[in-house]
Amino acid sequence: MHFNIENYIRDIKDFPKQGIIFKDITPLLSDADALKETTKSLLELVPEDIDKVVGIEARGFFFGTLLAEHLNAGFVPIRKPGKLPYQTYQETYDLEYGTDTLTMHIDAIKPGERVLIHDDVLATGGTAAAVVKLIEKAGGQVVMLNFLIELSFLKGRDKLKNYPISSLLTY
Ligand code: AMP
Repeated sequence: MHFNIENYIRDIKDFPKQGIIFKDITPLLSDADALKETTKSLLELVPEDIDKVVGIEARGFFFGTLLAEHLNAGFVPIRKPGKLPYQTYQETYDLEYGTDTLTMHIDAIKPGERVLIHDDVLATGGTAAAVVKLIEKAGGQVVMLNFLIELSFLKGRDKLKNYPISSLLTY
């Protein structure tokens, strides 16, 4: 019987603000079988020869780390400014209102390393596009971007045209 991962994702209306339907993955994280099945299903979507998995703060850390462990790869966290203690690369990108900045340690990725990016949700793609730039600043090669959930109506793929993308669930 096919395990229904969708049943473990909870829609929260108007969070964190009016008009957003937030995809809450905490029910999936808290169920032992769902956690295992999701990791297994994500692994079927990604290449095996990866040097680093890059997870995006904060919900990209959960499965990002699990994927890294299974792929025999290292894990690299992307964080908001002021969180990483060592020297960082920074990338600022546009939001609907204003801008946001993401950072990565300058020694987290070595030139030529094969990188898999992971996050929970692909929405407009602005976040993921900024992460691609951070990795390329360090000389890394983005092999694929992988998401648990893709909100296809927000057309995130349009911002990531030159890169392979895999998503477990598409809405
Ligand atoms: P974006 O830059 O628009 O692709 O937004 C991606 C980031 O925002 C990801 O780190 C997601 O975790 C988060 N995000 C955007 N939309 C949602 C949503 N509907 N539910 C949960 N997380 C979301």
